[in-house]
Amino acid sequence: MKIVIPKEYLTDERRVPLIPSNVEQLVKLGARMEVETGMGKPSGYADDEYVSAGATLNQDRGALLSSADLVLRLHKPPIEEIELLREGSIHISYFDPFNEKGILDKFVSQGISAISMEMIPRVTRAQKMDALSSQASLAGYAAVIIAAERLNKVFPMMMTPAGTISPSRVFVIGVGVAGLQAIATAKRLGARVEAFDTRPVVEEQVQSLGAKFVKIDLGETGQTKDGYAKALTEEQIDKQRQEMAKHCAMADVVITTAQIFGKKAPLIVTKEMVAAMKNGSVIVDLAAQSGGNVEGTVRGEEVVVNGVTIIGMENMPSRVAIHTSQMYSNNLTSLITEYWDDETKNFELCLDDEIIKGCLVTHENEIFSETFKKLM
Ligand code: NAD
Repeated sequence: MKIVIPKEYLTDERRVPLIPSNVEQLVKLGARMEVETGMGKPSGYADDEYVSAGATLNQDRGALLSSADLVLRLHKPPIEEIELLREGSIHISYFDPFNEKGILDKFVSQGISAISMEMIPRVTRAQKMDALSSQASLAGYAAVIIAAERLNKVFPMMMTPAGTISPSRVFVIGVGVAGLQAIATAKRLGARVEAFDTRPVVEEQVQSLGAKFVKIDLGETGQTKDGYAKALTEEQIDKQRQEMAKHCAMADVVITTAQIFGKKAPLIVTKEMVAAMKNGSVIVDLAAQSGGNVEGTVRGEEVVVNGVTIIGMENMPSRVAIHTSQMYSNNLTSLITEYWDDETKNFELCLDDEIIKGCLVTHENEIFSETFKKLM
């Protein structure tokens, strides 16, 4: 089986889909690996390292894609590049299938078996393939580091001959994978941390990290079978905002990570809540890419509103690209290894396997995934 990895086409992306050590692993399984010349460069991997790992290089992107049995990428493919793929080939990447109907249709008409990394089910067996988690965790870390750098205070308590400095207060809204890592990082830096999530099961996890869980009685909230939050009603979200306002006003740093899988992120911090925050405080809106949790967030930018810095930076994982590349590359390799047939030396799509059923979105000129069949 020929596995190809084209260069990522977004020029500001510093992550790469596959690192040399994983190429070596796949070569040992019997895969023929071909990478586009310069593919590893954004994360500092030289072409020579891929060659030493057993891959061949190809400068001709069109030829590379059209000869592939399996394509590995990070970001969604441009539609015109799907046209280059062979019927029956497999494509694995993020591709935002809830919002990218054009890409979905193209995969169907072209007869591509497309696996969406966003759709890897959250079951124990798939944890090692779960790119949403691996990337979100490091994004949570990076968000706190940026906030600490922008804040004109220190995080830890310090008792010095020149006086005592009280710890900075960090409020984390949304305690999924990113939020938990944000709490852990802020605690390591010595901040006083509070956190809130609509899923009550999170309370214990927050406490185990030494942070305080903010309790708000919103009535029935619950979570899906995959552990994702359910969307709140308008009344619930209003109540949440009222209760959160005082915690935001006390905070030096607010990190928001609240998401509803496959939907626009809920607006939690209103402009009135921002206006009531302390001059010099910092908000990092990690949901900026899916609509933002904060009124006033500008996607991809850093703005100052009434003395409060709101950071809507996109692609936080790219800021720590060495480790996020390593994690994503491991996620892809685990997925391939799990379904590798040692006799045929192929990645075999086991169509009745629960992980494949969850993440294989298109197959043989049809929508394959039940989730998307229902949506269509
Ligand atoms: P996510 O990125 O979809 O959402 C982030 C957080 O925002 C979630 O914790 C969610 O409850 C919260 N949220 C949504 N609306 C909110 C609101 N109005 N106010 C405050 N918070 C709100 O979720 P995620 O981080 O990808 O994962 C969520 C959970 O899934 C994890 O905490 C974990 O329990 C579970 N999970 C399980 C596995 C596994 O079993 N393999 C893997 C990863 C995650």
